[in-house]
Amino acid sequence: MAKYIFVTGGVISSLGKGITSASIARILEARGLKVTLMKFDPYINVDPGTMSPYQHGEVYVTEDGAETDLDLGHYERFISASMTRFNNVTTGQIYNAVISRERRGDYLGKTIQVIPHITGEIKDRVKKVADVTGAEIVIVEVGGTVGDIESLPFLEAARQFGLENGKDNVLYIHLTLVPYIKCAEEIKTKPTQHSVGTLREIGIQPDILICRTEKTLSMELKEKISLFCNVRKEAVIEAKDVASIYEIPLVFKNQVLDEIILSHFHLISKFSELKDWEKNVVEKAVNPKHRVEIALVGKYIALQDAYKSIYESLIHAGIFNDAKVVIRKVDSEEIEKHGVKKVLGGVSGILVPGGFGYRGIEGKVRAIQYARENSIPFLGLCLGMQCAVIEFARNVCGLKGANSTEFKRKAKYPLISLLEEQHKVKDMGGTMRLGAYPCKIKKGTLAYRVYGLALVFERHRHRYEFNNKYRKQLEKKGMVFSGICQKKNLVEIVELKGHPYFIAVQFHPEFKSKPDKAHPLFREFIKSALQAK
Ligand code: GLN
Repeated sequence: MAKYIFVTGGVISSLGKGITSASIARILEARGLKVTLMKFDPYINVDPGTMSPYQHGEVYVTEDGAETDLDLGHYERFISASMTRFNNVTTGQIYNAVISRERRGDYLGKTIQVIPHITGEIKDRVKKVADVTGAEIVIVEVGGTVGDIESLPFLEAARQFGLENGKDNVLYIHLTLVPYIKCAEEIKTKPTQHSVGTLREIGIQPDILICRTEKTLSMELKEKISLFCNVRKEAVIEAKDVASIYEIPLVFKNQVLDEIILSHFHLISKFSELKDWEKNVVEKAVNPKHRVEIALVGKYIALQDAYKSIYESLIHAGIFNDAKVVIRKVDSEEIEKHGVKKVLGGVSGILVPGGFGYRGIEGKVRAIQYARENSIPFLGLCLGMQCAVIEFARNVCGLKGANSTEFKRKAKYPLISLLEEQHKVKDMGGTMRLGAYPCKIKKGTLAYRVYGLALVFERHRHRYEFNNKYRKQLEKKGMVFSGICQKKNLVEIVELKGHPYFIAVQFHPEFKSKPDKAHPLFREFIKSALQAK
């Protein structure tokens, strides 16, 4: 039978529950265990795919084409398990399933209630992930903060799960904040006491507390927390702020958190391997030799989370190239207002990420023109590729009215347009081209040199496609179509002859980059940027 760990959060949101859960998974995987993770999201949306980045941050896409919470990105970056649509459960999905069953008459006349039907469905989902993956440890991150109304059914399900499966098989970890109050020069434990109190009212006694803190916690303080929260003092773990998120598994390992968890489950493992992670990831991330500045020209740059996987991929590429990647976050509308030189002057590389809607597009097109004309390394992702094609058509091929039909329905030259099948789509949720598709790479191209492979699988999330009607015309002027999805003859990768590094892709390589295995497109982008510098 699998062992289960529920991770809850208290006091405030944004304490890093996702990274904490992923780090716990990392140190357990380092002990030779097969680990997987899942995330409960208490909102009513079926998935985050219909939410604005302002509401939700990045939408992370799995190999099987599910639009999920960005924490699944952390999970895949920290451990080897692959996430699927089963690893993210929302209130919307739970109610959807229960209500469809009720409409079919499956409940045979019963009254359908939060307990036991909603909680039952939640528990089934946890078991399903264990069954499908064959994992020995399933870590379940419960979204939201303890005390929220909307996460109550999930916490109740977690409580029942412990009762039904036994203490030896279920463990509860609570992540909390222990704030330092400057004017009093004191570290305060009261919020943690209250948060654990609230959890106990629900019927959950945490076995382990992980305390986010700016300052080191003294033994005395840990003892106090232990006593008031009814948690053994060695299970009060300090999570002090660190320079890189990839250090957190080491912070936990140093406090033998892996051993505490193993002994709770009566598991024995002599195996322990975290040295490579320490040497090849953490040391490189913390002490880089070189420095390079990259502009990310987007529209949601004010939000930390909107381009999460891209920021992390740039960090991974920096780790590989022994460089600190400084990201200049540029709002593309600023380029429209102040001119491209003023905003982008001095950067060694330009990245244009994905996005939706017309706002900010003209600034992105200007940024790409600037990269093309000045031989600045350029990486375009999804919408970034579409803009690169529009720019080339307008400024090199003389097609002045080139555009995407997403932005101009009746564009004179619709370089980017909808496939026939997308015209019929009425529901917006889950109907884009999603998940992994094969892409065949032409030999002798930059893409082939970067990947070193003739066939790759990359993840997608878009509705619009390159319009093949214009392929010949662009090719004649020096654009190379180096990656094609053969089944429908869709353009996946474009690049430019004679430019040191100009490559744009219809997919999202950022979802497959790892700290110890930077994605080739990012890795070579940063390498070229370092050379350009
Ligand atoms: N808006 C574009 C499309 O739907 C690009 C999407 C994206 O960048 N993820 O095709």
